Amino acid sequence: MGESEPLDKNVKTAEVALKFEKAQVASEQQVARERTAVDEKASRDLQKERAGIVPSVTPIVYKRYERARAARRGIGIAEVVAGRCSVCNIALRPQYFQELRRADQVLACETCQRILIYNPPQSFDDLADDAQAPATP
Ligand SMILES: [Zn+2]
Repeated sequence: MGESEPLDKNVKTAEVALKFEKAQVASEQQVARERTAVDEKASRDLQKERAGIVPSVTPIVYKRYERARAARRGIGIAEVVAGRCSVCNIALRPQYFQELRRADQVLACETCQRILIYNPPQSFDDLADDAQAPATP
């Protein structure tokens, strides 16, 4: 019996370590399952929202968007920030930026072909006007 004692001790130590690791893996699997469930629900909600938006988009624009999305790793729209396409980061030509600001047509980034959206910044003057708006009818 004397010779197998250290071996038994090693086996016991390994069993304890294995038990600990199994518990750790099970807990990580549970976390991953919960995270996946949350992500899948978010994906379903967004797909539903998307399906609701599609009918309100002109078919030609939707086609352009889908083409850009397919060609550009799932991102078909880019916001213009400080005169640049926020996705490819290329500066728009000043004249092209002016056309976009007129907002009378749908324009795509000349470099990455994503459809551009532009939200003009609120000026401080506008905010000041609102604050000073007379309360009288
Ligand atoms: Zn771009």
